[in-house]
Amino acid sequence: MIEIKTRQEIEQMKPAGRFVGSILNNLRNMAKPGVNLLDLDNYVKQQIESRKGATSCYVDYAPDFGTGPFSHYICLSVNDAVLHGVPFDYTLTDGDLLSMDLAIDVDGWVGDSAISLVVGEQADPEDLRLIKATEDALQAGIAQAKPGNRLGDISAAIGAVAHEQGYSVNVEFGGHGVGHVMHGDPLVPNDGRAHHGFKLRPGLVIAIEPWFMATTDEIYQDPNDGWTLRSQDGSRGAHSEHTIAITEGDPIILTARDE
Ligand code: MG
Repeated sequence: MIEIKTRQEIEQMKPAGRFVGSILNNLRNMAKPGVNLLDLDNYVKQQIESRKGATSCYVDYAPDFGTGPFSHYICLSVNDAVLHGVPFDYTLTDGDLLSMDLAIDVDGWVGDSAISLVVGEQADPEDLRLIKATEDALQAGIAQAKPGNRLGDISAAIGAVAHEQGYSVNVEFGGHGVGHVMHGDPLVPNDGRAHHGFKLRPGLVIAIEPWFMATTDEIYQDPNDGWTLRSQDGSRGAHSEHTIAITEGDPIILTARDE
């Protein structure tokens, strides 16, 4: 069921979004060569535990697309991993492409956001181009998030950026409604037909999350952890996400970061 939030409920969602955005900002600065993924996961755990009213959306999360409870506080996907990366004992090195996806519940409302970056100084220009494509696609999707448009306008705008940049799109996982739970209706695929689908209206809150891989649109689930989704051909993936609220005017980016 698609929920439409009142203005007051959207106000109530702001602390969760701000909290997620601020943690991602801090993680961006922390993700340097020599830092272990488990240190980043532990930082998020500490932040959540020290904030009254905050709980992780991931720790006990056990949907049908993963294997058992996730058991960590953030998704960290490195290089050929693109979504749902389980943090493990891995030390980041210069040039790694890291995607960080974080969802936290604060006082009963969820914020969900993701960023990608290249660790250290020696970034492959192709990795930067891939990351920017997901960021540009996110902005293009947000620009369509206004009353009168349809869900397909958001999907088509995201897909258009991917195709212009030479990337293909996997539509098995995409954006979704956000509210009291992390994953709600409607689904927001990363490609689709303009002027089709659910009619957007004020009070609709959705996560928009383009993720692309450099040279494939096929993924497989890492058999070692039962969660991490990797590119079929080993090429790198990137992911950008915001939770936004549609209003009468411009959408509110609930997970905006001060950068
Ligand atoms: Mg997310």
